[in-house]
Amino acid sequence: MATKKRAASSQSAQSDAETVTRPDWRLGASLPWFLSARQSLMAAERAQRLPHALLLKGPPGIGKGAFAEWVARFALCEYAERSPCGVCHSCQLHAAGNHPDLRRIAPPPGKNQIPVDAIRQLIGDLALKSYRGARKVGIVDPADALNSAGANAFLKTLEEPGQGTLLLLVAHRIDRLPATIRSRCQQMALPGPTTAQATQWLETQGDAPWSGLLNLVNNAPLAALALVESGAADLPADMESLYQALRRGGPVDLIAAAEICHKEFPQLRLTWLESWATHRIYAAAGVAMDQDIKAFDLPVAASTPHIESLFALIDQTRAAMGHLRGSVNAQMVFEGVLATFARCVRSSVS
Ligand SMILES: [Zn+2]
Repeated sequence: MATKKRAASSQSAQSDAETVTRPDWRLGASLPWFLSARQSLMAAERAQRLPHALLLKGPPGIGKGAFAEWVARFALCEYAERSPCGVCHSCQLHAAGNHPDLRRIAPPPGKNQIPVDAIRQLIGDLALKSYRGARKVGIVDPADALNSAGANAFLKTLEEPGQGTLLLLVAHRIDRLPATIRSRCQQMALPGPTTAQATQWLETQGDAPWSGLLNLVNNAPLAALALVESGAADLPADMESLYQALRRGGPVDLIAAAEICHKEFPQLRLTWLESWATHRIYAAAGVAMDQDIKAFDLPVAASTPHIESLFALIDQTRAAMGHLRGSVNAQMVFEGVLATFARCVRSSVS
């Protein structure tokens, strides 16, 4: 097994700091699975019914941050009837990355939470008069990263935002947000793409084994792009070749394989193994595996000889995901998981 870095030839896949800290509004304007969301917001704007606080919710890795940037650009554009026009002064300021009426907050690098000071700064900035005499926009991405002090500090602004203020909260898991925050926002569920949409879009971004990668990230295309950026493009093929070697029945050095697994993308390899077992349980139960069905909702399986090994593999991979976050001997964890994997493969062949 060997994993090599292979970058997609994509502008949006660039890993420069700008892309990391500020999602590209052009993605939000173009991703096909957000078409109806864009249309409904534009209709709300025409009817002058854009809410003052919008909670954009949906699974991670589908482009919600980019969508929020598009909403900000669209709301700040000075030509409502053809916004975002791209030519007005507001659009130019946004393109240059320094629109004075737009503020964004996120956790500091390496942190999981947004500090309460950052929220207070945002609240203070939004309370000031608009520089361009129009809207002011604040983006909190991800809002799940607000701690309770930050959420409490934010409540009054959500309740009584200043004239023309638009707050955009981006959330992967809204159950992590206090009910007091949720109830003060209009919620908008952003859908993820179908598998066909995701694959089609990714193929325009560059050449990579997208199908296998999408499988590892719950069909989230931006997360699949990030895997390629991090050098994990060949991981599905690596795991497949281990599977094929076991299937052929010859000698396989599981200790060496475990060493690679725990050193290179261990969590992803566990996800691959869990997905592999889940697909086989579905097949054994005669149920078509759908990308949208979560591995947590396993069907009652038919009693095939290897079904118990498959369930054992799923249990073991899930336990290993937890163990790897702590201080454990990762080599031993993988040796155990791969031994069960080998049992699954060989019992299904025999
Ligand atoms: Zn404009």
